[in-house]
Amino acid sequence: MNSVRDWRAEGGIDHRGAKSRESTARLGARQSLEAVVHEPAIPALTQADPEVARLVQAEARRQFEKIRLIASENYVSRAVLEATGTVLTNKYSEGYAGRRYYEGQQVVDPVETLAVERAKAVFGVEHANVQPYSGSPANLAVYLAFMEPGDTVMGLALPSGGHLTHGWGVSATGKWFRSVQYGVRKETGRVDLDEARDLARRERPKVIFCGGTAIPRTIDFPAFAEIAREVGAVLVADIAHIAGLIAGGAHPSPVGHAQVITTTTHKTLRGPRGAMILSDAEHAKAVDKAVFPGLQGGPHNHTTAAIAVALGEAATPEFGTYAHNVVANAKALAAALLQRGFDLVSGGTDNHLILLDLTNKAIGGKPAAKALDRAGIEANYNTVPFDPRKPFDPSGVRLGTAAITTRGLGPDHMPQVAAWIEAAVQAAGDEATLDRIAAEVAELMAAHPMPGWSPAV
Ligand SMILES: *Cc1c(COP(=O)(O)O)cnc(C)c1O
Repeated sequence: MNSVRDWRAEGGIDHRGAKSRESTARLGARQSLEAVVHEPAIPALTQADPEVARLVQAEARRQFEKIRLIASENYVSRAVLEATGTVLTNKYSEGYAGRRYYEGQQVVDPVETLAVERAKAVFGVEHANVQPYSGSPANLAVYLAFMEPGDTVMGLALPSGGHLTHGWGVSATGKWFRSVQYGVRKETGRVDLDEARDLARRERPKVIFCGGTAIPRTIDFPAFAEIAREVGAVLVADIAHIAGLIAGGAHPSPVGHAQVITTTTHKTLRGPRGAMILSDAEHAKAVDKAVFPGLQGGPHNHTTAAIAVALGEAATPEFGTYAHNVVANAKALAAALLQRGFDLVSGGTDNHLILLDLTNKAIGGKPAAKALDRAGIEANYNTVPFDPRKPFDPSGVRLGTAAITTRGLGPDHMPQVAAWIEAAVQAAGDEATLDRIAAEVAELMAAHPMPGWSPAV
């Protein structure tokens, strides 16, 4: 196999994204010689549309060669991939099982019922809606279910690790609703529950969101439940990031504390891109009505099937092992980074996520993330709490260990990963050094199979 550097020199797709059609074609020509194999195989696509097929192959290769530390990403199993590529995509099925607006639901009804029943069993909830197209529409459905435009919502502020859809200003949820936001404590980097309680008492929100997108610490669901109860708010736990850890027993569950739980299915849960809303029986009807007909049309049945498959996997003992390994890897990586003098928001991690704080370094988050990507380590730049820099060039880099755990890396690998991270950040701008690191990274990852990709033999 050619080295990662040869591949880059070939053009097509590199860290700067898609280049010209011509260079993409050259990449494709070389790849066909090399028998790059996406799994499931894509012979009809290759025949009918080589241009798209080449891009799919290039992305499979890119995912194979990199250390993927994007905290919201993972590698789904081949079974999940196969389910997403089925004829279920051809079917319209507005409504719910047994109550549809189209005929021909003899097969789709049991598919969706299977996904719903598995979701209820895995998370121990009374109700599950598996139709939301993704995490953001799932959250919007919650607003539609429990609020009127102009009502007050309370969520964690984006710079403190909250999600856009928890009422941040640029989001529809911040524009159409009155939003109040709590944050984290400056000294600890942890959610300020006193501030959240005071804010809730003062503002009387109808809905309170807990959870977020860059929270490295355990979410205190019982504490939020107490606050919500006191002010009569619906507590929504958005577990998009940690759903897999909860399913695998590596993070406390919000069940019994939050009446409504929203989650994506594609992050630590390791399913297809999609989402679910879980709830108690009391809130079930409002949730279902909000998703359909309130917000969406026909559900994506191929995705529903893949969610069912992923939930089947999440119910196995192996998945519990994976979830605990994700946390063990994050703790080991955090320790190795601290040892190298990096600052981490909150000083470490309880889950899959680490937030590097580069304010004490001579480099911003964006150039650091770009250098890491060139060095074969994929991450995203991120604001840190009380960030002195601007949001488009913040001081943080967010890391997560779900994808590399799926690839089979363990705590023993983390000191090496931390060493590469330090070397890449220090070598920002020095492309020769970054490419040298990328070649070492690709060599390590070549020994760790990826579902969906079979290297040339
Ligand atoms: C990822 C995420 C979402 C949104 O999911 P999309 O599928 O990207 O729309 C919502 N909430 C939280 C906390 C997330 O991390």
